Amino acid sequence: MTGSSSSSPLSSAKRIVVKVGSALIADGPDPRQSWLNDLAKDIAAFRNRGCEVVLVSSGAIALGRQLLGPHKPKKLEEKQAAAALGQPLLMAALSQAFSPHDVPVAQSLLSLEDTENRRRWLNARSTLETLLSAGAIPVINENDTVATDEIRYGDNDRLAARVAQMVSADVLILLSDIDGLYTADPRLSPEAAHIPQLTEIAAEHEQMAGGTNTQADIGSGGMATKLAAARIAWSAGCATAITLGDRTDPLSGLLNGAKATWILPPLTPAKAREIWLRGHLTPEGAVFVDNGAARALRDGASLLAAGLTGIDGDFARGAAVAVLTDTGEMIGKGITAYSAVDARRILGLRSDQIADVLGYRGRPSIIHRNDLILEP
Ligand code: GLU
Repeated sequence: MTGSSSSSPLSSAKRIVVKVGSALIADGPDPRQSWLNDLAKDIAAFRNRGCEVVLVSSGAIALGRQLLGPHKPKKLEEKQAAAALGQPLLMAALSQAFSPHDVPVAQSLLSLEDTENRRRWLNARSTLETLLSAGAIPVINENDTVATDEIRYGDNDRLAARVAQMVSADVLILLSDIDGLYTADPRLSPEAAHIPQLTEIAAEHEQMAGGTNTQADIGSGGMATKLAAARIAWSAGCATAITLGDRTDPLSGLLNGAKATWILPPLTPAKAREIWLRGHLTPEGAVFVDNGAARALRDGASLLAAGLTGIDGDFARGAAVAVLTDTGEMIGKGITAYSAVDARRILGLRSDQIADVLGYRGRPSIIHRNDLILEP
């Protein structure tokens, strides 16, 4: 998509996830500080326009690997050790880049389980939401030191897409060493044509993307993992842009029509989430609510403990539950932030009484409105 900023999905985005690959972060053992400073400035400008930004940053292995020895780490445990050495260097470089803009950066290392297991998903999402409300930039990387092959993403493209889904982002930006998808690899075929926009990803596009990026010396993504990421985002109602990262204003440039491949979803994040919830939630128990709570839920509120009148079943935090009125009418279903045991203990209580009873400060709501679908 080229043209004016008004045509870019970025112009109306309220929340974006930006993924930065290792080649943009590191030059040998050193952070590319001047580019990072430009990126921080660009991100700060977006935040000042009221757009929240989550950064998914690679580069830990690239920055740490020289500290391990002269050879490129090949074995998994060497890469994990390199990541452990490089992650603090990465955060130091980012903190330095954001410090003139008075924006705190918050490290968040996620594992595959955090996005695949519903209970952990709720935990990670609450933390990210809290960081965003506090005005911080969450900086996410895979928790490489503990992730073994079977349980790791391995590439931050797909991790970034899961994060975009988790925080209901409107746009995922994959900053790359290439300005989008081409009909063939443009480094090998001069006749390859750039594709500015897709509304779905078909087998032919996957074929165009080829395999992983075999030419890249560092990092592990390629066009194929970028399309896989875009597909995840697409199903979550999030638009993806694949664009060139190595410029001074990668985000503003994109807003102003810089060359990119945009993959546009048919739905908004809210609608995609609703469809997902309708298809995936098989209730493992039920919560009963009073009339006031039932009305509030229909008006778009979250379910609070104060409105609970009863609990049925034995479910864990993160389970799907049916929401029923006192008279047994089903009004919806949702994902509960409390187990049945804890929900029974705080039934009918005001939010400020919960901590005293449970001994810990739980989530503000039993079911957050984003995790709730109502019967039509
Ligand atoms: N987590 C890896 C790192 O920080 C990068 C994974 C990737 O290349 O996408 O070095």
